[in-house]
Amino acid sequence: MSDCIFCKIVAGEIPSRKVYEDEDILAFHDIRPSAPVHFLIIPKKHIATLADARPEDSAVLGKMMVMAGELARQQGCSDGFRTIINTGRVGCQEVYHLHMHVLGGDKPLGPIV
Ligand code: 5GP
Ligand code: ZN
Repeated sequence: MSDCIFCKIVAGEIPSRKVYEDEDILAFHDIRPSAPVHFLIIPKKHIATLADARPEDSAVLGKMMVMAGELARQQGCSDGFRTIINTGRVGCQEVYHLHMHVLGGDKPLGPIV
């Protein structure tokens, strides 16, 4: 997807502060953090929204879930964290490349939209 910001980040055409990368997924710090720790985990494959995920995407979605805990711990979120996937217009999704927000810090997080 040539006009997708997150595909450009995957391709290295837009810089990002990487947290983790493998052949399937990329994690990088959010440019406008909503918490002391706020990074995004994305599939390298362009999937526009969670509603567009298909059974063949199950493995990569599973990897995103499993890596959330591992990476959150590495980022110092030993007391927990919040994950959010905004989906579509009603879900307030801004960037149409599926991403999981991982938010944490030293204090409990209030409501985050
Ligand atoms: P959404 O509302 O779609 O769930 O969240 C999109 C997130 O992507 C926002 O938190 C926003 O700050 C982040 N974001 C948008 N553009 C960029 C970018 O170019 N680089 C990074 N690192 N984050 C971005
Ligand atoms: Zn994309």
